[in-house]
Amino acid sequence: MNLPRRIAVAAIFFPLTLWAQAQSILGFTPASAAHESAIESKFKSIPTPDEERRQHRIFTREPHIAGSKRNNELAEYIRDEWIKQGLEDVIIRRYDVYGTNPKSASLEMTAPTHYQALLKETPLPGDEDSKNPAISGAWLGMSISGEVTAPVVYAHSGNPEDYDLLRKNGISVKGKIVLVRYSNPYSYRGFKALTAQREGAAAILIYSDPAEDGYKKGKVDPDGPWGPEYHIQRGSITYDFMVPGDPQTPGWASVPGAKRIPIADAISAPKIMALPLSWHDAKPLLENMDGPVAPSDWQGGLPFQYHLGGERVKAHLKIEMSNGLQPYYVVEGRIRGADLPDEWVVLGNHRDAWVFGAVDPSSGTASMMELTRALGDLKKQGMRPRRTVIVCSWDGEEIGLTGSTEWGEQFADDLRSKAVAYINVDEATSGPEFHGQAVASLAPMLAETTRSLQDPSGKSLYDAWKETVEREREGQRSTQFSDSGVVSETLADTRIGSGSDHTVFLNFIGMPVIGLGFEGDYGVYHSAYDDFFWMNHFGDPGYRYHTLMSQLWGVTALRLANADLLPFDFATYADNIRQFVNDLAKNNPAILSGGKAGAKDPTTVCATCSASETKSDPLNLSDVRKSIDAFESAGKNLNQSLTQKLAEGKLDPQLAATLNHGMMQAERNWLNPDGIPGRPWFKHILYGARFTYAHLELPGLTEAVEKQDWPTARQQAEILERALEKNTRLLEQMNSSLSQ
Ligand SMILES: [Zn+2]
Repeated sequence: MNLPRRIAVAAIFFPLTLWAQAQSILGFTPASAAHESAIESKFKSIPTPDEERRQHRIFTREPHIAGSKRNNELAEYIRDEWIKQGLEDVIIRRYDVYGTNPKSASLEMTAPTHYQALLKETPLPGDEDSKNPAISGAWLGMSISGEVTAPVVYAHSGNPEDYDLLRKNGISVKGKIVLVRYSNPYSYRGFKALTAQREGAAAILIYSDPAEDGYKKGKVDPDGPWGPEYHIQRGSITYDFMVPGDPQTPGWASVPGAKRIPIADAISAPKIMALPLSWHDAKPLLENMDGPVAPSDWQGGLPFQYHLGGERVKAHLKIEMSNGLQPYYVVEGRIRGADLPDEWVVLGNHRDAWVFGAVDPSSGTASMMELTRALGDLKKQGMRPRRTVIVCSWDGEEIGLTGSTEWGEQFADDLRSKAVAYINVDEATSGPEFHGQAVASLAPMLAETTRSLQDPSGKSLYDAWKETVEREREGQRSTQFSDSGVVSETLADTRIGSGSDHTVFLNFIGMPVIGLGFEGDYGVYHSAYDDFFWMNHFGDPGYRYHTLMSQLWGVTALRLANADLLPFDFATYADNIRQFVNDLAKNNPAILSGGKAGAKDPTTVCATCSASETKSDPLNLSDVRKSIDAFESAGKNLNQSLTQKLAEGKLDPQLAATLNHGMMQAERNWLNPDGIPGRPWFKHILYGARFTYAHLELPGLTEAVEKQDWPTARQQAEILERALEKNTRLLEQMNSSLSQ
């Protein structure tokens, strides 16, 4: 506890240059960096594993699905705690949304033999919580109600190409029940549901194959972290890749009394029955199927050959849902900024869980509660951040990213003018491996921040992170690696898809985002076994990673909140955008070489092609590439001037304000108000998500290229070029204001 104070005193006596060398922080003058280090040391000393564990137990004691009494009580608990901790303007915001709840579900195999599916998770020895009578049965959020008796077809992962293969084998799924497995390769279950709906299936059953998260991976709960026989992966099937949030208020907030569209017209509301299964319940169906033997990559971990099915196995499925209007509650608190109260750093984590949610999301919630306690303590000791830090506990993330989306839509105008960044933590801890995501402009500052934290292994978090990234390098294509395969110094994964609460901030509001999480072997996702027992035996028994998350999340926020000049790096951004364009070219060689696939090296064809050569090309990205080059050199020049200015140590507040607003504006300039073609809600032109939730860079351009819709592709390329030019001009203006 005394350490930070000693550091603060030492700072005064150290020669400034020496100190600057030891403690330089992106965006800070040497004097403010020394001050910041002292604040951070103080901050880092506050969260403790015991408190993390105590908070975690509170959130994991009972199931707390969105809209439930327990989840609403937890909202009140957070509000009361935050007030005690010293947060300001603490408020619970209500949104009346189209929610989803199960009433009943039954599944029986009627032929060739009879089997009544259990649709329940059995208690595990030693795990008292697994006996809780409040644990729900099998259900998927936003399934429709209905009843059908029909043959069952095995459709592998339920992706479009899987149905093509069934068709080739003469198997139709029209009016039938399709049985698909979860993640091979991973795709969001809502996309599986939409695909089944488009194929005309009557219902979709989604089961957890032991090859993916069960005994084929390793020891299962209660002896190991993988999913046991009866575990059921609940989840929503909302088509939130079309538009997230309340399906009846696309693009505006569901404040009480808001205008609502009919549910029949809501494009994100599924129109199919859907149910998840444990492998225990899927086994009798798979085992009895007729039809051709499924291809080898369709085979799974159960001890028999999988067939495509289609006739022999028949099932009777009945689902009764209670879908309709219900209130969700977002808790919001803040520490008002001492100098710049109208510049906001926003932090968030969702509260709602499928059952106990020990990893997802309560590990994040526990880390958030220790983070807010530490922020409150600093404030009580007179260390208020320069900018305002806002912290939110979202509701209904699991249903359709609902709470964060409605809140973001409600405050979109304020956020577009005031917000610096959003830092999301969903699952804080399922193991020891750090994964950090960041919009490229913030990747350098995130990497630098991890250098100042210690991993429980004894290394710096940066070194531990680097080892993880290097281990994962094999077979992975990512911006973390340059073309030569060398791990980039910034480490962060800059390819950001959807699937959590950052979505509204990045894709709708145009805020740069960071996402933080520690990961490990985790086979109980969205099941009742994702509970306190699991966390204390496998995920983070010592709560050291929870503690580290509070520290990391808080220090990252403090750096953004206290920086003299916001630590955005636009040269890194430019290089990242160039990689996005390179990837687009690599993945679509025929297109960018004018239909002559393989005629030239696809990675260089457009960088090198002259205007005359490419006249016949459907799409020429050489102007985009030139704009990226210009943006990069403006970014480099600005970086140089900013570094110099900060090193001088004197900053005129008016100049700092101009520069900071410029940097915030640059992020907003990536928005196209019309959105990407077909999905107007998604407005960011650099980042988007596929229907599977997978990251999708340059979404409007990429989707047009993939469809070979050249007029749209050219139009999207022009939009990108214009945004690059606008931001180049902005950076040049900022740079010239520095030299005046
Ligand atoms: Zn989550």
